[in-house]
Amino acid sequence: MNGNTPISEIDQLVQQAHEAFLAFKRINSKQRAAFMHLVADEIEALGPELIDTAKLETNLPDARLAGEKARTVFQWRSYADALEKVLDIRIDTADTQRTPPKPDLRKTAVGLGVVAVFGASNFPFAFSTAGGDTASAIAAGCSVIVKTHPGHPKTSALMAGAIKAAVQRAGLHTGLFTEVRSDNVEGGQYLVAHPLIKAVGFTGSFAGGKALYDLAAKRPEPIPVFAEMGSVNPVFLLPRKLEKAAADVAKQYAASLTLGVGQFCTNPGIFVAPNHKDLPQFIDALKTLIADTSAAPMLHQGIASAYCKNKAALLAQAGVTVLAEAPETSPETHGNATVATVTANQFLANEQLGHEVFGPFGLIITYENAQEAEAIAKTFHGELTTTVLAEPEDIHAHQSLIEVLTGKCGRLLLNGFPTGVEVCYAMQHGGPYPASTDSRFTSVGPDAIKRFLRPLSYQNWPDEWLPDELKNANPLGIWRTVNGELTKSSL
Ligand code: NAP
Repeated sequence: MNGNTPISEIDQLVQQAHEAFLAFKRINSKQRAAFMHLVADEIEALGPELIDTAKLETNLPDARLAGEKARTVFQWRSYADALEKVLDIRIDTADTQRTPPKPDLRKTAVGLGVVAVFGASNFPFAFSTAGGDTASAIAAGCSVIVKTHPGHPKTSALMAGAIKAAVQRAGLHTGLFTEVRSDNVEGGQYLVAHPLIKAVGFTGSFAGGKALYDLAAKRPEPIPVFAEMGSVNPVFLLPRKLEKAAADVAKQYAASLTLGVGQFCTNPGIFVAPNHKDLPQFIDALKTLIADTSAAPMLHQGIASAYCKNKAALLAQAGVTVLAEAPETSPETHGNATVATVTANQFLANEQLGHEVFGPFGLIITYENAQEAEAIAKTFHGELTTTVLAEPEDIHAHQSLIEVLTGKCGRLLLNGFPTGVEVCYAMQHGGPYPASTDSRFTSVGPDAIKRFLRPLSYQNWPDEWLPDELKNANPLGIWRTVNGELTKSSL
């Protein structure tokens, strides 16, 4: 008995989720938002058992898990509060005097249907069962079936219990949120291929996201797969910045690279630095910081062994030299920070050096001049983030490089490091392929809801038959663009 949900049961769950979606459509966006606050209350009320369970299943420390729980609650609340803005209601009233007459048109946005959600191992709360994909799909008016991550099944069950308790308190259909347990690809793939599934939210590896994307595209009715995948998040250090702040940059880089044993999709895996007279100062400071880091337990043995294997494969490439390594203890479970270096020429000649090594591994590429830095930048595919560490005169002198970087990422940082993804309206978490499968959307921040919505215009419908969002009296009291003007007024 492995606890996997049988395929026949998955089919029933999808049918129920579809019925729940149809019932959920009948409540308005304010009621949906109120339900989301109930979910937030239930998650907030989960006691120490949640943190203790997640700690046992993921090896993540208490403080990190407590922070992630608060972030997860905030996602449910802030997406609920943002819903009216995200719906972006447009009303253009009729003009019967015009030739030809202009019809009355009112546009809202409605949920796509049943959404299948796949969470990642490294965020057991914020990007998993009750994470951002589930919150944004529910905000959009969709029902959700989560394929639980095999790395933290008990944590998932606790989070699922919180959502189900809120469903019960709100008197909603129990099919609104369900889970499928599967520790192999079969259950998840059946879900994605099911005709009643209308969209997929995925956070995880490139291999997993691409496999599900291809599967969804081959269905008789193709569906969108919003897959947020791995990234090397290149950081470009420019010469004047190196002159001014070598030791400080080394300190910040080491902290970001090793944060959470490097297990972040925004981990700065590639660092591009000028071969400048002050580079040794940066390297020496970095060597000391990395050597002083203790190896720490990774999420699970599979991640730890993948780290060892992928790191060894990269270190075996021509021209790669290890600069610094934290002492190795229990490599079967722990990850030790490692920094290696390679010249621009060697990097440009070997495509394999640009691959993500998930964990605390950094590759420093040294460049001789601005043209070489730009040539390196051009090799990157889509990234979640790119970063520039620069003084004002550097920015002035490297406009062309910065232009290349804007074409490669979803978030461009200046003088900071990419770990740490704020949940807010202006966040873009997602980038050109292969960082994500649809660079037009974000998976963090209220705009994540838009992934699971489709616009729907009502033409010439009498007021009584319109959804509340579109009625003349504006009974929900929300912001709407009426004949081009943003207003809360009634018509
Ligand atoms: P993963 O191995 O891809 O697993 C994610 C989920 O997808 C699991 O439930 C997994 O189930 C399922 N899955 C994977 N391959 C599948 C396939 N071929 N068919 C059906 N289901 C499949 O990812 P992970 O190891 O948990 O997470 C680490 C990776 O996630 C890193 O690369 C990291 O950079 C990335 N990540 C990205 C973000 C982001 O926002 N972009 C955030 C966090 C992490 P099974 O294991 O049962 O197959």
